[in-house]
Amino acid sequence: MTFLSATLSRVKPSPTIAVTTKAQELKAAGRDIIGLGAGEPDFDTPQNIKDAAIAAINAGKTKYTAPDGIIELKQAICAKLLRDNELTYVPNQVSIGTGGKQILYNALMATLNPGDEVVIAAPYWVSYPDMVLLAGGEPVVATASSQTNYKLTADQLEAAITPKTKWFIFNSPSNPTGAGYDREELKELTDVLMRHPHVWVMTDDMYEHLMYDDFEFYTPAQIEPALYERTLTCNGVSKAYAMTGWRIGYAAGPKVLIDAMRKIQSQSTSNPCTISQWAAVEALNGPQDFLAENNRTFVRRRDLVVEMLNQIDGMNCPAPEGAFYVYPSIGGLIGKKTADGVVIENDEIFATQLLEHSGVAVVFGAAFGLSPNFRVSYATSDEALKEACTRIQTFCSALV
Ligand code: GLU
Repeated sequence: MTFLSATLSRVKPSPTIAVTTKAQELKAAGRDIIGLGAGEPDFDTPQNIKDAAIAAINAGKTKYTAPDGIIELKQAICAKLLRDNELTYVPNQVSIGTGGKQILYNALMATLNPGDEVVIAAPYWVSYPDMVLLAGGEPVVATASSQTNYKLTADQLEAAITPKTKWFIFNSPSNPTGAGYDREELKELTDVLMRHPHVWVMTDDMYEHLMYDDFEFYTPAQIEPALYERTLTCNGVSKAYAMTGWRIGYAAGPKVLIDAMRKIQSQSTSNPCTISQWAAVEALNGPQDFLAENNRTFVRRRDLVVEMLNQIDGMNCPAPEGAFYVYPSIGGLIGKKTADGVVIENDEIFATQLLEHSGVAVVFGAAFGLSPNFRVSYATSDEALKEACTRIQTFCSALV
């Protein structure tokens, strides 16, 4: 339809949101659905954070703020970046947006010209390529191998960089695989970036606090301080603090970029929700000990899911270092048929049939740029996970 913009025709709706919405609709219609689609912790937002929001409302902190956030939250973010990541920033190098998603989008909108390339490692979070396209740029996908647990190698990054590359988007622990880059693996990538001074790095550190088995988190500017001048370190409170609906994400980077991002925000959404910003101040400045408690729960769930999925013939599910996702491959199931004769030609059909027959919602691998796989979000109760994995086992063993 010509009324709609040409840019819009280059992008598709978010598949993670689509699967989550579909699962909710089926549930509302009375179907027995277990949703493993949404990347959203089932934990409630901690009480001290809720109390801070209520106190903000009662104190009348309900008006507009500066477009890229209140000084108190910028200070809390600077303190957090120093405490956790050994990175020194001042408040005018910080931008706060309506979720990590808006931060990444603002940064791409602020920097991309037609023809500019952005290197993205597949499997990638569904929104990176489409955000690049919306901003007028060209995603360049470098596909990681299952041999390296879906982590990009230095050679692969090197091969993807051209004179037109503007950004490399780096995400660890990864959505959708949960893979985390250790210090050496990340250093190999930053060494490549040091050889290409025209390339900036945009990090997506959203799963920073969700790391297991003593795995240590590092972010690029921490590993290679010389990259500081061309790094946008992005993060948010959604996952670690169970605050997905509050919509607060943030970034720290060179002031010139932060100023440009503010310009976009001032002409689009104005400021992120004032009350949520006060809640995020408490999230970052308040007690952090519940994170370790949550991680004990997550690691137990990860192990449960990995074990049960690996019992399935034709499926292989590595145990990742972080986040709350696993990304099993289903190479051995492709070509088989369901009892009613549907051929599992690809992972999208697998996910559709699984939902249809077993009421388990997962996101198909093609959405993340690497097939044949699917993503399970295990941020739900042990009981629901056991039941879901049992249903997946039953569905797969019925394939012929
Ligand atoms: N990041 C989450 C996910 O991957 C939330 C949904 C989204 O924004 O994509 O499921």
